[in-house]
Amino acid sequence: MKLKNFIGGDFLEPTLGNYIENMNPATGKVISLLPNSTHEDVQLAVEAATIAKKSWATTSGEDRFKILNKIADLIESKLDELALAETTDTGKPIKFSKAVDIPRAASNFRFFATAAMQFASESHAMGDYAINYTLRQPIGVVGCISPWNLPLYLFTWKIAPALAAGNCVIAKPSELSPTTAYLLGEICNEAGLPKGVLNILHGDGLHTGSAIVAHPDIKAISFTGGTNTGKKIAEVAAPMFKKISLELGGKNPCLIFADCEYEKTISEVSRLAFSNQGQICLCGSRILIEQSIYEKFKTDLIHKVQQLNIGDPLLEATQIGSLISKAHQQKVMNYIQLAKEEGGVILCGGKIPITNSQTQNNAFIEPTIIENLGPQCRTNQEEIFGPVITIQSFNTDEEAITLANDSNYGLAASVWTNNHNRAMQLTTKLNTGIVWINCWLLRDLRTPFGGMKDSGVGREGGEEAMRFFTEAKNI
Ligand code: NDP
Repeated sequence: MKLKNFIGGDFLEPTLGNYIENMNPATGKVISLLPNSTHEDVQLAVEAATIAKKSWATTSGEDRFKILNKIADLIESKLDELALAETTDTGKPIKFSKAVDIPRAASNFRFFATAAMQFASESHAMGDYAINYTLRQPIGVVGCISPWNLPLYLFTWKIAPALAAGNCVIAKPSELSPTTAYLLGEICNEAGLPKGVLNILHGDGLHTGSAIVAHPDIKAISFTGGTNTGKKIAEVAAPMFKKISLELGGKNPCLIFADCEYEKTISEVSRLAFSNQGQICLCGSRILIEQSIYEKFKTDLIHKVQQLNIGDPLLEATQIGSLISKAHQQKVMNYIQLAKEEGGVILCGGKIPITNSQTQNNAFIEPTIIENLGPQCRTNQEEIFGPVITIQSFNTDEEAITLANDSNYGLAASVWTNNHNRAMQLTTKLNTGIVWINCWLLRDLRTPFGGMKDSGVGREGGEEAMRFFTEAKNI
């Protein structure tokens, strides 16, 4: 299969004819070719978007709602096809694609479809002699760049609010997970989205992503990906005075107290650590356990994790699939080696498993738990983004907070305790954009989403996203 760019409602070959291979990481087999788009393709997409933008900006909220809601319906109706594509591109368990990735992509469109009708702005009266009111107008043409870990989920999380707010979009999925984005183009045509309103370009960051960021007519960039890439994007976009939203990496702490609901916490920690093979920016990777339950919790967690079913992502029973690529597998294995060199003790996992699927070229890694590492070592400071966690102990709430905040990242934390006062106290002291109490990945799409410190700039979700994708004008 040869994927094409989606520009002005048509499916086009890349102008310079360059293609990249798309690999199924669970089998090591090439499954398709995708365009490696260049500046020339970005230019075509910008021209299509520029033609479409006046009409889309003045389309009524109700009409935008109807189209975006129809896209949500179509995503739902194509659940099996989209889930299969997501799993084949990424190696994630099909059960996960069906339960998380694709339903959430539909929810993103449905949620922001309603935002198109309900988005409102403020007015400020000055006594009884004057009134200000604020218009929030579409920016025009905006760029959305997303990663491979939750492909359609994160792609639509950006595109849907950008369209709902009346912008035209140039969007790029990761070169490692292009297929559902390609299928989204077909869905948009079927839903009646006017030509040029959404343009989807395939390619790598070097050629396609950087050309989107540098294009002078693309006035805002919404990016999710690694912290180093975020820096590069900011270096180009900031001097051009583009609006930028950067959702970057994490090294998320998980604080477990002796008074937690024990069985539920064991089970949830296994989930928050290893869902999607640990390749979710919100996964917990530094597990902090109160000393009095440390040994028991450790033993029970290892037992739970060793029961996780690793194998062929296409089987419904599989809980742990493949990592995204051989290169990423190597990166994660290097971190496991580093952990050993730093004095870490591997409690379980740490190896490439023998799986039932074709083993030679696939990218699996066993879920891995490491102890005996201090907070300052690289294993506890750098984002690994794979099925690898460390466990550390603490004695007091203050010590737990110090360990939790000892990171350049500040994306998400979770706190596990039945002491309500303690939970409330801790939430104010944790330096992260999101704190969950006795739960994880429970998301209300109206809430602000994003991180502090090296985890990014700005917030997505609800009003925050609608405000990002509009210019405020005070009258
Ligand atoms: P990358 O930063 O490598 O890539 C993200 C996207 O940016 C891809 O589409 C990539 O293209 C593109 N890109 C790469 N270089 C450039 C560039 N110079 N200019 C413009 N675009 C570029 O991240 P990964 O795809 O490896 O994703 C994993 C990272 O994403 C982790 O750090 C994770 O924490 C973070 N993440 C953050 C989330 C959050 O909400 N905070 C959510 C999910 C993930 P290509 O891959 O095709 O080269």
